Amino acid sequence: MPDQRLNYISGEWCESHTGETFETTDPAIPGDVVATYPESDAEDTERAINAAREASGGWGTTPGPERGRILARTGSLLEERKDELTELLVREEGKTRSEAGGEVQRAIDIFRYYGSKASDIGGTIKSPSARDTKLYTKTEPLGVAGLITPWNYPIAIPAWKIAPALAAGNAVVIKPATLAPGVVHEMASALEEAGLPDGVINVVTGPGSEVGETIAGHEAVDAVSFTGSTAVGNTVYDTATEDGKRVQLEMGGKNPTVVSDTADVDKAARIVASGAFGVTGQACTATSRAIVHEDVYDEFVDAVVDRAAAIEHGHGLDDPSMGPHVSESELESTLEYVDIARDEGATLEYGGSTLDREGYFVEPAVFSGVDSEMRIAQEEVFGPVLAVLPVGDFDEALAVANDVDYGLSASVVTDDHTEANRFAEEIEAGVVKINEKTTGVELHVPFGGVKDSSSETYREQGDAGLDFYSISKTVYDN
Ligand code: NAD
Repeated sequence: MPDQRLNYISGEWCESHTGETFETTDPAIPGDVVATYPESDAEDTERAINAAREASGGWGTTPGPERGRILARTGSLLEERKDELTELLVREEGKTRSEAGGEVQRAIDIFRYYGSKASDIGGTIKSPSARDTKLYTKTEPLGVAGLITPWNYPIAIPAWKIAPALAAGNAVVIKPATLAPGVVHEMASALEEAGLPDGVINVVTGPGSEVGETIAGHEAVDAVSFTGSTAVGNTVYDTATEDGKRVQLEMGGKNPTVVSDTADVDKAARIVASGAFGVTGQACTATSRAIVHEDVYDEFVDAVVDRAAAIEHGHGLDDPSMGPHVSESELESTLEYVDIARDEGATLEYGGSTLDREGYFVEPAVFSGVDSEMRIAQEEVFGPVLAVLPVGDFDEALAVANDVDYGLSASVVTDDHTEANRFAEEIEAGVVKINEKTTGVELHVPFGGVKDSSSETYREQGDAGLDFYSISKTVYDN
C-alpha cells in the first residue's frame, strides 16, 4: 500500500482543494508505487504563501538561540530516522543505499550547522566618527522565502535552502520536485516535532507550471531560491524579478576534468570515472567532459573504460555501484544523447545501452574522439555519459574547458603546480578542484557557478547561504 502524503500548510497536513493526486514510483521497479501526493494548484500555493506571511513576523523576532535549538533538534530527529529516510530516497529517486545515506547525512549536518549559526546572526557594533553616536548594523530576515527544488538531491538541496532560510528568521514555502518529494515531507515533519511554529514551513506538491510559477510570481514572497535546469531557472528569474524579488539560481553544468600529461593516468581515470558515473551521472557537478593531453589520451581512455565496465547495476537498496535513472524520460534523454554523439562522429568506446532487466538502467557510456563543437561536448546530458576530448597542450585544454555556456564545477589532474595554479586562476567555474573529482562539495563554503550555471549574485551554503536570506540595516543612534 503506497504512502498517502499530504501538503503541509499552516501546521496542518492537508489535501489539495482540487482533490487530485499524483504518484511516485520506484525507478528500479517502475510498477511499484511508492507514494501519492496532492496535485496542488495556484490556490493551494497561495494558501501556503499566506500562511508563511502570517507566521513570518513571529518567527523573525524569535531569538536566534531558540531558532538554532529547533534546527539542531531537527538534525537529531532526522538522524534517528536516517535508515527510513535513506530507503525512501532510494525508492523514489533510485540512488544506491550508500549514495542516499551520504545525502541524508548531509541534510542532518546542514541542520546542525545552521542551528549552530543562528545565535550569531544579529549584526555588529562599529566605531562611529562622532563620539556620541552609537553605530551598528542589524541583520534582519527578508520575510517569506519561496524554495523550488529538483529531484536529483531531493533532501540535501532542500535542506541547504530550508535551514539557512529558517536560521535567518524567514518563513518558507517549498515546492519539491514531483519525482521524489517524500524526504521533504519527512523534513517538515521533523521540524514540526522539533517545535517549529505553525506556518513557518509550508510544503506544497504539484506541477512546476502551477505551484512553482505561483511561488515565483507571488507578491507576498520576498525571495526565491531555485535549483534546477537552466531553461526553467531563466523563466523563474524573469517572473520573480518583475516585482523586485531577490533571486538565487543554481542551474546546469557541463563540468570538465583536465588531465595533464604529468598526471598519474590511473589516478586520473579513477577521479573522472567517479565524477562521471557516481549518482548515475545525475548531478549538476557531474564530470561530463574529460579533456586529456594527447600523450596520455589512449592510456586514459582504456583506463576509464575499464572502470566503466566494472560498474555493477542493481536496485539501490542492494547497494550496487550504480542505480537506475530517476525516470523513463531521463533515461530516454540519455539514450538520445548517445545517438547524437554517434551521429556527430564520436566513437563509442563502451556502454550506452539499456540493460536487459526492468527499471530505467543504462550502462555508463564513454565516447572518444570528441570535438568541442559537438553537442555531446556542449549540452548537459544529466546521465552517465563521458565525452573524452584530446588536446595538444595545457593552453588548449584551458580554452576547451572554458568553451561552454556553463561554469559550475571544474577540476584538473596534474603533478605540475604551475598548471594547477593557472587552472585555478583561469578556469571559468564557481567550484574548482585540483586532483579531485568535480562532484562533492563541503557545506561550510560557498557553492555556486558562473555563466549559465548560476545567477552569480548569491551563493549557497556556508555564511553565503545566510546572506541570501538576510538584509542588513545600518543604524546611527545619536
Ligand atoms: P527542472 O528545472 O525540471 O525542475 C526544477 C524544479 O522546478 C522542480 O521542482 C520543477 O517542478 C520546478 N518547475 C518546473 N517548471 C517550473 C516553472 N515554470 N516555474 C517554476 N518552477 C518550475 O530540473 P530537474 O529536472 O528537477 O533537475 C535537474 C536539473 O537541475 C539539471 O539541469 C541540473 O543540472 C540542475 N541542478 C543544479 C544544481 C546546482 O546546484 N547548480 C543542483 C542540482 C541540480
